[in-house]
Amino acid sequence: MISPESLLEVEDLRKYYPTQQGWLGRGGARVHAVDGVSFSIASGETLGLVGESGCGKSTTGKLILRLQDPTSGTIRWRGRDISRLTQHEMRPVRRELQAVFQDPYASLNPRMRAADIVVEPLRNFEPMSESAARERAASLFARVGLRADQLVKYPFEFSGGQRQRLGIARALSVQPKLIVCDEPVSALDVSVQAQVINLLMDLQQEFHLSYLFIAHDLAVVEHISHRVAVMYLGKIVEIADKKSIFTRPQHPYTEALLEAVPVPDPRRRKQRRVLTGDVPSPVNPPPGCRFHTRCPYVEARCRVEEPPLKQVASGQWVACHLRQPVATKEEAIA
Ligand code: SF4
Repeated sequence: MISPESLLEVEDLRKYYPTQQGWLGRGGARVHAVDGVSFSIASGETLGLVGESGCGKSTTGKLILRLQDPTSGTIRWRGRDISRLTQHEMRPVRRELQAVFQDPYASLNPRMRAADIVVEPLRNFEPMSESAARERAASLFARVGLRADQLVKYPFEFSGGQRQRLGIARALSVQPKLIVCDEPVSALDVSVQAQVINLLMDLQQEFHLSYLFIAHDLAVVEHISHRVAVMYLGKIVEIADKKSIFTRPQHPYTEALLEAVPVPDPRRRKQRRVLTGDVPSPVNPPPGCRFHTRCPYVEARCRVEEPPLKQVASGQWVACHLRQPVATKEEAIA
């Protein structure tokens, strides 16, 4: 799944957390938050990363940003392995890799004025005069649809949607190449969600940005993504271009997620198959296929044999025993 023009390449990425069991946490079990994830993102591309709460998608985003250290695996940024760089060595990379989080209120300093919030990341990289900083903040404000008179306001004086625009302006200030958007519109009203998504898409065109767009809302992901990766219990179970995922899903879990999207037609609602059972614990994930405890098509070997991620159609990769691989020229690293 790694293409030659990839900006970001993630290979067999893992993050295990120790639980508090055992003497001083030693000898206890481990939470398998991210468990062998591989994907790439090309320049100017949006990869949507979807799955239920706790599937490891936000942890994947934090690992890529190096806000957390991976347990193992490789993160290559523009061909360079950044997975084990020190925080000091990461400094120049941070300028190119930015983040927009779900709750901008929590990520914005409440005691700073908006203009300072927006240019703070830039000031960390280049010394700027006060007037140059004001000018830059005003131009970023205009670009994300905020008014110049709001530059002097504090975060609490903005609405939820405006605060998310502020967070986007702050991320943009250092002219990044990739932005990890972690549930950036989940806390917003539906009408405001559309405005923020459209803004992100316009900015992508203008600045040739790449996004890793993490969300649980499939409708939002469908709108913004070029490709979509579906995660379940720390693993990618399907990755494909948007059209294939939404019209020809190949993994039973992807099918189930699509079935769960609300539909207005009551007749179609009756025909829907509802995903039953709870997500198993990531401390002790099921053997074989991790989805076997909830899968309506489960077979005997699903309980013992883990299905590898294999290519089932051009650009479509699935981890399920029921799907047959196709022979293509594209190479797998999974
Ligand atoms: Fe279901 Fe088996 Fe496929 Fe897993 S491998 S998704 S249990 S059919």
